[in-house]
Amino acid sequence: MDADCLFCKIVAGEIPADVVHRTERVLAFRDVNPQAPTHVLVVPRAHHVNAAELAKADPETSVALVTAAAEVAAAQGHEDYRLVFNTGAGAGQSVFHTHLHVLAGRSLAWPPG
Ligand code: 5GP
Ligand code: ZN
Repeated sequence: MDADCLFCKIVAGEIPADVVHRTERVLAFRDVNPQAPTHVLVVPRAHHVNAAELAKADPETSVALVTAAAEVAAAQGHEDYRLVFNTGAGAGQSVFHTHLHVLAGRSLAWPPG
């Protein structure tokens, strides 16, 4: 755990979150500023700064994020959904603890802005 990390604090239960799915490896909770009717963040319990670092350090948990995201989408009633890993501030990453955005419930334009 990184003592200064917001998502580590959510995983530890120190900051409340609307948790929709949990496994041994990952936690999924609703984004506080949703960009779609369903907007859930799936995070590893362990601290890694981005998706690539997680994949290098712990490939099984990397797979678990995608599997959990699919389960969340299905549980929320969505066949169609978008998964996003923003990586780096220039690409919109604002929390430097790996998180997979699950977006669904409205039509999603492509390319993203
Ligand atoms: P990023 O911009 O790093 O890809 O995504 C970070 C996401 O975390 C944003 O969509 C933001 O709304 C969300 N977020 C920031 N602070 C909190 C919080 O305290 N609780 C929850 N549930 N989501 C948060
Ligand atoms: Zn963290």
